[in-house]
Amino acid sequence: MDFKDFNLNPAIAAGIAAAGYKTPTPIQSEAIPTVMSGLDLMGLAQTGTGKTAAFVLPILHALMQGSRNRPRALIISPTRELAEQTHQAIEVLGRNTRLHSVTVYGGVSINTQITKLRRGPEIIVACPGRLLDHVGRRTVDLSNVDFLVIDEADQMFDMGFLPDIRRILQQVPKKRQTMLFSATMSPEIKRLAQDVLVKPVTVKVGDTAPADTVSHARYPVSPNRKTPLLLELLRHSDMGSVLVFTRTKHRAKRLGEALARAGHRSTSIQGNLSQSQRQVAMDGFRSGRYRILVATDIAARGIDVNGISHVINYDIPATPEAYIHRIGRTGRATCTGDAFTLVTSEDASMVRAISKILDYQIERRTLPGFDYKASVRDDDVPPIPQARKPYSPSSRKPAFAASERAFQPRAEHVFQQKSERPSQPRAENAFQPRAERPSQQNRFSAGEPGRRKPVRQHAGRDFMQKY
Ligand code: AMP
Repeated sequence: MDFKDFNLNPAIAAGIAAAGYKTPTPIQSEAIPTVMSGLDLMGLAQTGTGKTAAFVLPILHALMQGSRNRPRALIISPTRELAEQTHQAIEVLGRNTRLHSVTVYGGVSINTQITKLRRGPEIIVACPGRLLDHVGRRTVDLSNVDFLVIDEADQMFDMGFLPDIRRILQQVPKKRQTMLFSATMSPEIKRLAQDVLVKPVTVKVGDTAPADTVSHARYPVSPNRKTPLLLELLRHSDMGSVLVFTRTKHRAKRLGEALARAGHRSTSIQGNLSQSQRQVAMDGFRSGRYRILVATDIAARGIDVNGISHVINYDIPATPEAYIHRIGRTGRATCTGDAFTLVTSEDASMVRAISKILDYQIERRTLPGFDYKASVRDDDVPPIPQARKPYSPSSRKPAFAASERAFQPRAEHVFQQKSERPSQPRAENAFQPRAERPSQQNRFSAGEPGRRKPVRQHAGRDFMQKY
């Protein structure tokens, strides 16, 4: 299939050429004609599949007809990063259309947004909390919205945004075209889809598993040897840009510093950075100034950086769905990528759960010559603060409940304690400085009542045979 087959407005064809897209991705091939025919869409696709252009292109096409200078398309994103990336995609793809898009999210000046909204953009890309702030202040009018996109709905649910989404739905006309995108289909997303979509066409890409352009490997290791193993992997493998995931903000920060000390061009993004610090880190990673970015799941949401060759799970994610989201950062569109996961003995059940969702065994690898037996704690990344509950796929109801259970209470997940008040700081503000947990340094000291004992050192082969 070719983009020409869609018969998009010529102004949009110029944008596609500017973006450098040659052939539509599978989701684009299916979704663009569906949306252009006026039908509602349920898009089951993870990030990295080209889903943004799948809804942006037909919306731009439709907006070329009809009135201007009023919001006619509303795209709701769970995070500021995703909102910015969608906005940038609109700017590139719509560069010859004279259609205008603005972003609306928290953590930045509301007055600047008000000024931009007054200019009458045709497209608004918004995070729910700040959008509701504008609704409350009457600085946005959503009564002319013809197109509504709810992007990464599973993340919205995960972040406690569904009540906000329902409030926003009351502000947009009932007669509209709606597109709902989600990487996974939990009962909550199904219910939302039933409520917001009318006779939708479902387009499913990749069976919610990561792009098959990604190869997966797991590296068994004891917790205290993770950093040395990571350093070896970085030394041995033919890696380009690398995105490393940790479980906590603290670990992301410390690991980023440890990698920099070891001579790598690395940085980290985590919840305690200000928006401008995050921007500097992201821009540095995007431009190649930093080769390695260490991030937490929340901080990495929506990151769209081309050419990430490796995603490394320094800490295994809390749910299989989180694995898929992480891995979606590599192997994007037409590129290939590798996903490495460092696994400890505690991670066995999660490895099984991930293998199940991927529908194949993640290849187990060891690094020849690496000293797996060293017993001294030679990594200065603090331990994971709390024991995870054993993961049981059969008992897990919604995909996200497991992650909520497993993580709470955690500073980064504070926003999961949902607030009904639109003015409350929300997930798009989740990166504002928050109270850090008390230091975890001594938390695992052996024998202390009610506290976890240190993870036993596993030596060499015995440990490896557990995987
Ligand atoms: P998305 O899934 O929308 O986040 O897109 C993932 C990446 O693929 C983005 O960097 C897009 O610019 C890129 N992309 C989207 N569509 C195409 C296409 N048809 N050909 C090549 N790259 C694409």
